[in-house]
Amino acid sequence: MDTKRIDLLNLDTHELTGLVVGWGEPVYRVKQIQHWLYHELASDFDAMSNLPHALRARLRQTTSIGTLTPRAEQQSVDGLTRKTLFQMADGQTVETVLMRYLDAPGSPEDAADAPNIARRTVCVSTQVGCPVGCPFCETGQAGYVRNLTFGEIVAQVIHFARAEKAAHSDSALTNIVIMGMGEPFMKFNVTWRAIEAFTDSARLGMGARRITVSTSGYVDGIQQLLAKNSQVNLAVSLHAADDALRDQLVPVNRKYPLRELMQACREYVHQTHRRITFEYALMDDINDSPAHAQAVAQLVRGLLCHINLIPLNPTSRAPYRRSPQARVQQFEKILRAADIPTTLRVEKGIEIAAGCGQLRQQVDARRAHSVS
Ligand code: SAH
Ligand code: SF4
Repeated sequence: MDTKRIDLLNLDTHELTGLVVGWGEPVYRVKQIQHWLYHELASDFDAMSNLPHALRARLRQTTSIGTLTPRAEQQSVDGLTRKTLFQMADGQTVETVLMRYLDAPGSPEDAADAPNIARRTVCVSTQVGCPVGCPFCETGQAGYVRNLTFGEIVAQVIHFARAEKAAHSDSALTNIVIMGMGEPFMKFNVTWRAIEAFTDSARLGMGARRITVSTSGYVDGIQQLLAKNSQVNLAVSLHAADDALRDQLVPVNRKYPLRELMQACREYVHQTHRRITFEYALMDDINDSPAHAQAVAQLVRGLLCHINLIPLNPTSRAPYRRSPQARVQQFEKILRAADIPTTLRVEKGIEIAAGCGQLRQQVDARRAHSVS
């Protein structure tokens, strides 16, 4: 991929207008181009039949529609979850996951083609690696390389929107979760520009309430989101309800301790009237005792929220192991008894290494193996 080309997906409407009008084209071309890019999901310029040939040629010579190349793909046994490893123009790689949910139980063999898919959610990455460095997270342990551009984030969604459209013509994506590799609030403006592309009616036109952003606790980012007056859903990766443990598990806690984080969460609920989600990955003998559960209940009491208990994805990192089932149930029971809405995350394709950063790790390991 020629890195000198302008990535059209990395231009907002104002910037695209600047480019096209700068070429002496009328301003209505912007709407036409955006229609092809985001509504028709065109992957090449030849399809853009209402643009003059000269304009198409100029676009072809100087721009690209996204910069991602799929390099590896895995599918869950039931066919509902798909994960793609993308290579970017500079050779770096990130993962994106498509999760499909049935509205009624279907037979696993025909699940992927079934018309009874109620939700199609894409989980996008925002960074190559992640500087937060949570010790139980493959991405955090892989080392930080760089932030994605907002066009690289948008391109992940476009890839799956195209694939779903090609497979079943009336099957638009229903949700986007910004929960892949990376900490989305470290570069708030980039994530925000991606969210704008998702919600802008001239582009992907998805309702803000169908989008969720997950943060490890960047209070600054939560405040910037609030300043945008947005209805985007917020998920916070809690994993511990006391500072000493959270300093270890989610090291950004040393910068933004629980008191500040919870204050920002309360502001979010107060302003948006939206339920906040706390993610809590249960780790054997680390954060899964009854006392930990009671501390969580105490911490979130009175807040419009929901706790999502996550069975830890297997990682290569000792001592982080998944809690035994009995401890998970006990934890859930304590939260429920305290009237805290709690769910246990349904695992989507754990057999395809759906955990954050794991396909990338496998492919890199294979590469290292084949080189040696
Ligand atoms: N950086 C952001 C978003 C990406 S991580 C964040 O931390 O919120 C998405 C979620 O996956 C987070 O809740 C994270 O804590 C969780 N996660 C990371 N590694 C995991 C693992 N091995 N098992 C289960 N959840 C994991
Ligand atoms: Fe980064 Fe999230 Fe992984 Fe922590 S869990 S290292 S914040 S991607």
